[in-house]
Amino acid sequence: FDKIKQKLKSENQVNYNKFIKKLEFDEDSSNSNHLVIKAPNIFIANYVKRNYSKKIAEIYKEETGIEANIEIITKDIKHINYESENISTNTSPSILIPEYTFESFIVGPSNQFAYSAAKSVAENPGKNYNPLFIYGGVGLGKTHLIQAIGNYLKNRLNVIYVTSEQFMNEFRENVRNQTMDRFHEKYRSCDVLLIDDVQFFAGKEQTQEEFFHTFNELYNQKKQICLTADRPPKKLQDLVDRLRSRFEAGLIADIQPPELETKIEIIKKKCELNGIYLPDDVIEFIATKLDDNIREIEGMIVKLNAMAKLLGVSDITLDFAKQTLKEHIKDKKENITLQDIIELIAKEFNIKPSEIISKSRNKNIVAARRTAIYLAREFTKESTPAIAKYFGLKDHSAVSHAIKSFNKKLKEDNDFRIKIEELKNKIQTRKGE
Ligand code: ADP
Ligand code: MG
Repeated sequence: FDKIKQKLKSENQVNYNKFIKKLEFDEDSSNSNHLVIKAPNIFIANYVKRNYSKKIAEIYKEETGIEANIEIITKDIKHINYESENISTNTSPSILIPEYTFESFIVGPSNQFAYSAAKSVAENPGKNYNPLFIYGGVGLGKTHLIQAIGNYLKNRLNVIYVTSEQFMNEFRENVRNQTMDRFHEKYRSCDVLLIDDVQFFAGKEQTQEEFFHTFNELYNQKKQICLTADRPPKKLQDLVDRLRSRFEAGLIADIQPPELETKIEIIKKKCELNGIYLPDDVIEFIATKLDDNIREIEGMIVKLNAMAKLLGVSDITLDFAKQTLKEHIKDKKENITLQDIIELIAKEFNIKPSEIISKSRNKNIVAARRTAIYLAREFTKESTPAIAKYFGLKDHSAVSHAIKSFNKKLKEDNDFRIKIEELKNKIQTRKGE
């Protein structure tokens, strides 16, 4: 085995020091036709496997006359000092979905800003807003919008769309295979780089480092960069500051959960695209009773249609929709009572539960009461008049009014919205306790 090493050393000293020197030979396999070589880590093992297996087999044959197959194993997985432990096999090519266009995107107050920003970037790539950072909750159209930019430009410019995970996997694979030249060539020569879901860069320092350089290179060449995430840059966790400040330097646009009208329009559009007919009352039912996640809503439309076909139902009626989607509806409002909400809010606002339903005009208590009313409406099965009575409001229209101004604040005040999102999460996880 030393002879093999010597021979490889004489061929390439640098690679020898990096990869070959540290290999060990498994004595048990000597002079057999199955040669086992131990590498100190997976990184080296893969490299040697790819680039040296054949060579080693050749030299081995020259020396011993034995035709052997070569197995390369790692001695100790813990030695891996790369981020390579959790490499997912998800290296599927990143493609633009042709249906995700500006035309098929329904615009409403909730997404107007992000839509206009994306459109403007598509019309003047690299000129207006760089980078464009779009953020918002799950299933609200971030991928649709960023891909619409790609679809708009792909015929005349070199567009790359990847998720941050794919970027990371590709980066790691190229490091392993020592093909970083190729990686640089690919990412630094595009005109438009679209990176989806950058929240997954969290804690991946080497990937962030690499992306930082990619970003700067493109930015300096005035190439367009677009990013999406589930939260604004300043809320991204474990992101190196210099990357954060790059993300913040361009235009930041949010997508809010759609208003009822927008949701109805989107449902109609999806029905049209899928060749499904739903009567208005069913559409309204779906829009009001399901979550704001459009992807989920789309799934439900498809499910409704499939069930109808399966059961030989010719018209999808409101009753049929209620029956079919039953389990998805009650999900949200099960088990949560007004009392649960009052208790949670009291704790969060540091007041007594009785103060929430009192007549106090203390600012903190009023804020707590408003939040509780909003959450009661969102999470309990109580009717508006029942909520009015419980919180000591005049009538149901007072509740509607309170919720309307609450929604307005949600839309205008981002920090406020995030705080309420956190509360909502707390309620939902409480439910599971
Ligand atoms: P996100 O990336 O924000 O999680 P997606 O972009 O994947 O969400 O959107 C989920 C689904 O909802 C997609 O099929 C998308 O086409 C659809 N969708 C979301 N918002 C809209 C909209 N405003 N108009 C039309 N379709 C939408
Ligand atoms: Mg997405």
